[in-house]
Amino acid sequence: MLDDGTYGEFMPVSWSPTRFMDSGATLFFFAEEKDAVALAASTYPAESSGACGEDRVSADQLRKTQDIPDCLNDPALDEWIGKPVYDEGIERRFTFLPREIKFYRAMKIAPPNRHFIARVRDLGYRANSGAFMEASCEKCGKQLTVSKNKIFPNRRIYCREDYLKFIEAEG
Ligand SMILES: [Zn+2]
Repeated sequence: MLDDGTYGEFMPVSWSPTRFMDSGATLFFFAEEKDAVALAASTYPAESSGACGEDRVSADQLRKTQDIPDCLNDPALDEWIGKPVYDEGIERRFTFLPREIKFYRAMKIAPPNRHFIARVRDLGYRANSGAFMEASCEKCGKQLTVSKNKIFPNRRIYCREDYLKFIEAEG
């Protein structure tokens, strides 16, 4: 650090052990791949360097998410336990655990067809982000600074006073 003149500087994002596209930057601030490149952050694929044992499971052995049985009573669902499933949307594989399938059956929940990281990310996107924008109250036109929301970008926006009135009127 003394040699390259960075001593005393805050640690660069390139030192982060976290894959940038799985970090809070993407979840809370909607950072994208281009931001990772601009920041010289880690952009390696999540399954690179044997992270998921690809040397033990070839691509033709991976099951596809669209083939997951959607009926909990289907005995074929048991055949999916412990078998690697590839989620093309997030380019990651996952597997079902025996107690996971047991839980889905007990709760009458369809087995998910997406990687758990993708599902957690989508859940996080439902909350308001740390990125803000200017907007105006739909009732009185007051200028507001509001949080962006990835799932609900075109939501109704009220100032505090009109929001409370709305809640009171709508119960
Ligand atoms: Zn208002």
